[in-house]
Amino acid sequence: MSDAKKYPTPKEFLIDLPLYETISFEDEGLEEGRKLLYFDGTIDTYCPECNQHSIFSRHWKGTHTISHKPDVWVNVGRFVVELKCSRSPEHILFFMFTAEGKSIQKIGQLPSIASLNLFDVKKYSKVLEKKYFQELTKSIGLASHGVGVGSFVYLRRIFEFLIEEAHQSALISSSWNEEVFIKARMKEKIELLSSELPDFLVNNKSMYSILSKGIHELSENECLAAFPVIKLGIEIILDDKLEKMRRDSKLAEAQKAISALANTI
Ligand SMILES: [Zn+2]
Repeated sequence: MSDAKKYPTPKEFLIDLPLYETISFEDEGLEEGRKLLYFDGTIDTYCPECNQHSIFSRHWKGTHTISHKPDVWVNVGRFVVELKCSRSPEHILFFMFTAEGKSIQKIGQLPSIASLNLFDVKKYSKVLEKKYFQELTKSIGLASHGVGVGSFVYLRRIFEFLIEEAHQSALISSSWNEEVFIKARMKEKIELLSSELPDFLVNNKSMYSILSKGIHELSENECLAAFPVIKLGIEIILDDKLEKMRRDSKLAEAQKAISALANTI
């Protein structure tokens, strides 16, 4: 059971999968392809027209009948999946696929994958230096076009920058051992910085061993596979910073309110 091949869900097909990546199905998995062709659920994703998240559902043109035959889509050729925003039927996400044999490829979409995915990282511009924020968006754009090594290199630089930030604040501590840190691999560096980094990162540090590999050792596919994990790690660090920022500004506000009250009594 556990070694059954995992196929993208309809949402992953529509929102996350880069263009032109070919997904081949085994006979046992054909039903997963049917679920895409006849997708009739809802998806919570960014609507560029509303400029916020919205719930989308299938936009069928004219009458349609739904087939339940798992292989109905095999060799069907080009097909379109359109989704409409629940706030306005004019807000449409358009996706085109082609099914040749038992393979499905996404061959077009509007809006682009990058514009659907960039909204969720916009908030990080507040806690990430401009240079690195631009690299983050560039990296998401590259990954959405299936560029593995290129997108990964940008993410790696951002990740290393955030680790270096944590390192700088750890340096102040009297028990800090700089020599050990310099010689450590990324996995061990995360461990050494456990007091500065979010727990999730520290508990899952083995995911980051790929960051110690040299550029020439990385394959295109290895990078694409590691991309979501490293991106998640970056988001977790940045979420933590955003949370601290929010807390600090709330405390400052409370302090101000208390002083103002004290003055009136
Ligand atoms: Zn909308």
